[in-house]
Amino acid sequence: MSSRLPLACALALGLLAARAPLARGDGRASDAYLDQTRDRWEKVAKQIWDTPELGLKETRSSTALIDILTKEGFQITRGVGGEPTAFVATAGAGEPVVALLAEYDALPGLSQAAGQPKKQAVSDGAAGHGCGHNLLGTASVAAAIAANRERVARKLPGTIQLFGTPAEEILFGKTFMIRGGAFQHTGVVFAWHPDDQTRVTNRTRLAVAAANVEFFGKSAHAAASPWLGRSALDALTLFDHAIALMREHIKPTARIHRVIREGGVAPNIIPDHTMGEYWIRDASVDSVNEMLERLKKAADGAALGTETRAKVTLTFSTREPVPNDALNAVLQKELERVGPPKFDDTDQRFARAMQKELGFEELGMATAVQPFASKNGGTASSDIGEVSAVVPLAELNLATRPLGTAAHHWAQTACAAHPVGYKGMAIAAKVLAASAVDTLGDPGIVKAARDEFSVQTKGKPYVSPLAPDAKPVAPH
Ligand SMILES: [Zn+2]
Repeated sequence: MSSRLPLACALALGLLAARAPLARGDGRASDAYLDQTRDRWEKVAKQIWDTPELGLKETRSSTALIDILTKEGFQITRGVGGEPTAFVATAGAGEPVVALLAEYDALPGLSQAAGQPKKQAVSDGAAGHGCGHNLLGTASVAAAIAANRERVARKLPGTIQLFGTPAEEILFGKTFMIRGGAFQHTGVVFAWHPDDQTRVTNRTRLAVAAANVEFFGKSAHAAASPWLGRSALDALTLFDHAIALMREHIKPTARIHRVIREGGVAPNIIPDHTMGEYWIRDASVDSVNEMLERLKKAADGAALGTETRAKVTLTFSTREPVPNDALNAVLQKELERVGPPKFDDTDQRFARAMQKELGFEELGMATAVQPFASKNGGTASSDIGEVSAVVPLAELNLATRPLGTAAHHWAQTACAAHPVGYKGMAIAAKVLAASAVDTLGDPGIVKAARDEFSVQTKGKPYVSPLAPDAKPVAPH
């Protein structure tokens, strides 16, 4: 641009330059766009962080992302799968159809001051982005826009989709979207999640199912006529003991955890209704389903022994992700090309202060990309497992919190509106955008991914774990 141009004209051209890809043909214009617009994405991530919303209530968060995508020319479909805060944004036409996933729900009770290495809630008991989904949703939207701009500039074939997927923390948002037909025209999916490491995630996430276990008894005055009552709390106590004993007889990879939601209202009233929420996890959904059958037997046994009635209701189920090495290879290649987040001394000092506070080894932030491995990642579950059984999917992790720290913790909330989180988010956006562009430009990638998918799923059609009459209802 000539320095003799009038200022207004120069500014206008500057804006145009910011809106158009800088490089053509090398596939990396998406990087340049994301570098130029970096401040904007940090503001979006902070805006979502500032207004944490729980699953199915993410009205402001989803609207913020929809508004940005709409301005970029994406077509929006809202309310997918009967979930008011779910949406699909689409740009382009025809195949291949490459999709990215945005999550934006927060967690209850994880309010925490940004950049504060000690536990300090912004508002006691309030929700917070303790899984970094403000970073997750923002990076995926940024990547979709960057990839779409490059698609247009290079006249690449195909479609970019961005799925706005609510209620990940209650593990059914995407499952209802699948039932609503959301992924039926999608070719491949790239996903990411904030983490303490930078790597392509592979073959470690666990399958999980949850059930509400209720007992119905008979109320009576606990002192005057207890013989007339049948305690639903006795039943729940007996059932819980049966599950505790069952833990000796499950695989070492399995996990069972629970909370008691209702235990009665007063000790002097024999409780006629109780409820516990039980979660079962293991490396495979088959093992989870087998344990679920045993759990139902324990509930019936407890009911029989206490002359009460048991009711077991499945609230969600998500399988372990179906691996796809064809797509893993695309993510790994782009991750190694873009490189890990560059954390400076201030970031590392902050990370070590947090590790010291938590009693962890003071290792700071992860500074390298992990080599690809057949088992890479953490054991947390995600409803991306269900998506991966419908369409080929691969997932990336980016370091957004200190080494050793976990998600679902105030530490991640503190980092999710801080440079350590934003730096991870920026790399995630670049890797996702470049991977999407690579896939649009190379029909072989979708074909290889789909061939592998057929082998992994043995060609069996997807069966939803949802009961036919199941509705997306938040537990909070
Ligand atoms: Zn998460």
